[in-house]
Amino acid sequence: AGGLAATLAACSSGGSSDSGSGSGDAASGDCNVGISMPTRSLERWINDGEGLQKQLTDAGCTVDLQYADNKTEQQISQIQNQVAGGAKILVVAAIDGETLGPVLADAKKQDITVIAYDRLINGTPDVDYYATFDNYKVGQLQGEFIVDALDLENAAGPFNFEPFAGSPDDNNAGFFFQGAWDVLEPYVESGKLVIPSGKDPSGTDGWKSIGILGWGSDDAQAEMDNRLSSFYSGGEKVDVVLSPNDSLALGIEASLKSAGYTPGEGYPVITGQDADKANVQAILNDEQSMTVWKDTRELGDRVFQMIQSIAAGEEVEVNDEETYDNGEKVVPSYLLDPVVVVKDDVQTLLIDSGFIKASDVGL
Ligand code: BGC
Repeated sequence: AGGLAATLAACSSGGSSDSGSGSGDAASGDCNVGISMPTRSLERWINDGEGLQKQLTDAGCTVDLQYADNKTEQQISQIQNQVAGGAKILVVAAIDGETLGPVLADAKKQDITVIAYDRLINGTPDVDYYATFDNYKVGQLQGEFIVDALDLENAAGPFNFEPFAGSPDDNNAGFFFQGAWDVLEPYVESGKLVIPSGKDPSGTDGWKSIGILGWGSDDAQAEMDNRLSSFYSGGEKVDVVLSPNDSLALGIEASLKSAGYTPGEGYPVITGQDADKANVQAILNDEQSMTVWKDTRELGDRVFQMIQSIAAGEEVEVNDEETYDNGEKVVPSYLLDPVVVVKDDVQTLLIDSGFIKASDVGL
């Protein structure tokens, strides 16, 4: 790690501004980071990958950034190439958290340090750190939002409720769901929330039985279309949808729209996550009630700091050493705080902070 430490120290003390000199190349040789992201089809991963890449290249590192089109095999071979290409540190947002064991074992043989990015990698001892937002809290915020929006404590109900869950192969999806369900289940049990479609995740397969594999908007839309045509054909109305993230929310909103739902009185409460531009636009148009914002720049900064500590041979700062057991070990984690965004917060939280531009959302 000494060489890498020296390299990063040199980089951050201005070595990288020596453009054109040979030192940049020498630096790159040591500070070699492979970043593996799931897909370009979701805005957040583009921001995540490109943001971190920029920070690292500005510090003089060599960065290989790959997107795997949501295909596990592709992600594995991209990581294999990064290992073969001399990466010293890998940053991986796994598509399927269960399948990366063998390729990470190869990485370990070469002393590569592995950081699980946003999503935990399971069933392998060869993951060193995990940086993410507090995933359970994301779901909790969605659940609490629903309780407040419908005033479930006081209102008599019953409200027609349609729960959705994220991709069954994504470790985060279980945390999102559990966080929300721990808040909402008592109201399902008391009968204030009823699930006309019967897609009740308390059944034997749990949340995975209602998970949308791959997190696709189109699949969420098709699922919502099915529920509406099978269980709401007699004029019943949906009052609330638990959507774990924005990509699902977009599909659900499209489905509601084609079934004739329009914003205003009687339009359902719909949750989300990520503050994707299309969803922020939907929030401004009253087609979505909220999103849970995870400032991906903060996550990038945190991982950048981890990389600097690893390179300098210093202890990596973590703030959670008990939550994320991957089946082989409890992975030392740094959990960041997610934040609820509603219509009134768009300007102050998202635009003023530069996360999105006013013009991106028609303001
Ligand atoms: C991320 C979410 C994202 C989802 C779909 C999850 O692992 O934490 O931010 O919406 O994947 O890509």
